[in-house]
Formats: sequence, structure tokens, C-alpha cells
Amino acid sequence: MKFQDLQRINGRYAEALKQAAAEVIDSGWYLLGERVAKFERELSAYLGAPYVVACGSGLDALRLILRGYLEMGKIAEGDEVIVPANTYVATVLAITDNRLVPRFAEPSLLTYNLDTEKIEPLITPRTKVILPVHLYGQCCWDVRLTELSRQYDLLVVEDAAQACGAEAACEGLFGGRKAGALGHAAGISFYPSKNLGALGDGGAVATHDKPLAEVVRALANYGSDRRYYNKYRGYNSRLDELQAAFLSVRLAYLDEDNRRRRTLAEVYDRSITAPEVVKPYVQTGGLPIYHQYVVRSPRREELVAALASLEIPTLIHYPVPPHKQACYAAYHALSLPLTERLAEEVLSLPISPVMTEAEVLFVAQALNDFWK
Ligand SMILES: *Cc1c(COP(=O)(O)O)cnc(C)c1O
Repeated sequence: MKFQDLQRINGRYAEALKQAAAEVIDSGWYLLGERVAKFERELSAYLGAPYVVACGSGLDALRLILRGYLEMGKIAEGDEVIVPANTYVATVLAITDNRLVPRFAEPSLLTYNLDTEKIEPLITPRTKVILPVHLYGQCCWDVRLTELSRQYDLLVVEDAAQACGAEAACEGLFGGRKAGALGHAAGISFYPSKNLGALGDGGAVATHDKPLAEVVRALANYGSDRRYYNKYRGYNSRLDELQAAFLSVRLAYLDEDNRRRRTLAEVYDRSITAPEVVKPYVQTGGLPIYHQYVVRSPRREELVAALASLEIPTLIHYPVPPHKQACYAAYHALSLPLTERLAEEVLSLPISPVMTEAEVLFVAQALNDFWK
């Protein structure tokens, strides 16, 4: 059993992917072409976000959004961004790379997402952005977030890297419920192991803000909105035609893949019976996509070893929270006990659209047997 068998996942569409590659090779056009434009339209329609700009990675998508707001004068260097402490480090890199200041909020011990009740005490006159992360594929959204955004005039930038296809339990700022279309702008990742994965790096900015989309598009292309004329000191961060063609193939199957993941998650939910294991909690009315199926146990290290002895692969998302990383020494003294506890207890079990129910049952049984 592999934790995530990308060969089998993409192997299901091998013919269509090879055909797409052949078309791009034969076209002689590899960047800034019609396949990227087509994929952007498809993703925009799928998400219900009117503007989509493809870029080089999920991290770049978040960096470009924040840099775009800086260029537009909506935020300024040194402004504060409220971010969940319990996230992948890339979320925070996008903030500090733009010389903005992360203010870490503790998670809910139910959803592991940012606890929206803990946002308000962190708000200062310099707070300009809330950056919720839809961790493990479950939307971080509720009416409280909408209220806070309106009351304090805060931009909401979603880190939707793990949540392509997930739906929130209530409407976002613009009426829709899909991750990526809930806040003012969202960063999406097509890293190969994400639910909508490319065969290399890729990302996209989705937004309801047309001026932002235009600035982001220029920033991702050296800061140029017209060839050889540079408005901004930009980057080179583009999705290439090959990846766009692959992603159009995979997007057509995303809902089916996500349904399959939910079915397997239900099998885990039903068959893991050891009371010592905390299973994922799903917000009523929401539709998660189980990018990861994460359980929790204080005896995690022993559990990992027991499962490994049966050749069951597991991973930890994530063993070291951003504020404890070597690159963020200035934040080491912060005390974020819930985040630190999760880093010690969470364990991701294998889940993917190509796993069988028998494999899931085998993992669940192994987990139950550990406590016998
Ligand atoms: C994967 C991921 C990113 C970064 O995406 P890349 O495409 O790898 O740059 C950012 N945030 C979260 C939560 C992620 O899981």
C-alpha cells in the first residue's frame, strides 16, 4: 500500500494525458497560450469565482494576492494578517515574503481549522487581512468570519490549496459555498498530491475582484501588463500549457474523485472503533473533500510504528508548526498550546481515490487492534 499512489491516480487517465501532451508538443506553443486560458475559464466556472489567474504554485498564488493588494494600496508593509497557527508553513511564507506580519490564531480542537471565535482579540488597527486555511480539505468558514470581515473591513484571503471542490456549511462573502470563492481572493495549489494535482508544480488565484486579478496577472508575468512595458517589479510565475492541458483532463473527474474520498472516509468513520482515537469532525452542512483523513492520539509514535510494521504508510501533517520552524526564530517564544498539541498528536491515514474499501478496512482494523 502506498500513502498516495500518483502512478495509479494519473494512470486512470493515461491515454487522455498522453494525448494532451502530444497536442501541446505538436502545437509549438508552451506558455501563455489557449490551454491556460481554457483551464482558467473551466476552473472559474467550477469554483463560481469570476476571475482565475493561473500561476506557478500554490505558494505563489498566495504571495501574488498579498503583493497585489500591496500594489493596489489596499494594504501596506507591516500590516497584520491573522492566520491559523496550525497550518502548512507555505501559508506563513506568503505573508512574511511580503513584509507583512503574521498574527497566529489557535485552532478549534474539533475541526483543526482556525477558530473564528479567537480572531477578534487579535485585531489591531494594523490588521488588514484574515487568511483562513481549509485544512485537510474542510472549509474554514462560518457566519462569524463574514461578520468580522464586514465589521472591521478586513480582506479575506483563503488558502484553498487543500480544498479544491470542498463546500462550506454557509455562504461566503459573495453568496457561493465553494472553497476558493468564499472570500475576496483565494490561492489554489496543483501540487501533484493535491486533490486536483498537476504533473508538476502549478497554482491559481481565484477572486471576485477584477482589478486584483489584473494586477496579479501582470505581477506573475514580470510585472508587465503590456509586453516590454513594466508597471510593477514582478515575478515569473506562470502555469505552462502542458500542465494546463493535464489539469483540464483531471478537473473533469474532480467531483467523482472527491466523492470517492468521502465514501472511503465514511468507511474509516464506521470501522475505526477504538475509543482512544479521535476521528475527523465534520461541520454540519459542509462538504469536505478529505485531502487528508486525519486522526489524533497521544500515543502517535507507537501507533505509527505498529502500522508501519504492517506496511501501512502514514504521514504527519504537520510535525512542526510554522511558529516553531528554524526560519521563524522570532516567534519561537509564542505559546500556542493547542497548535503544539496537534503537532504532537495528528496522524494522516492513507486515503486516495484509487484505494479500495478493503484497504481502508485493513488500516482501520490495524488501528483498532493496536488498543487490544
Ligand atoms: C500545498 C499547500 C500550499 C502550497 O502549495 P504549492 O503548490 O506546493 O506551493 C500552501 N498551503 C497549504 C495549506 C498547502 O497544503
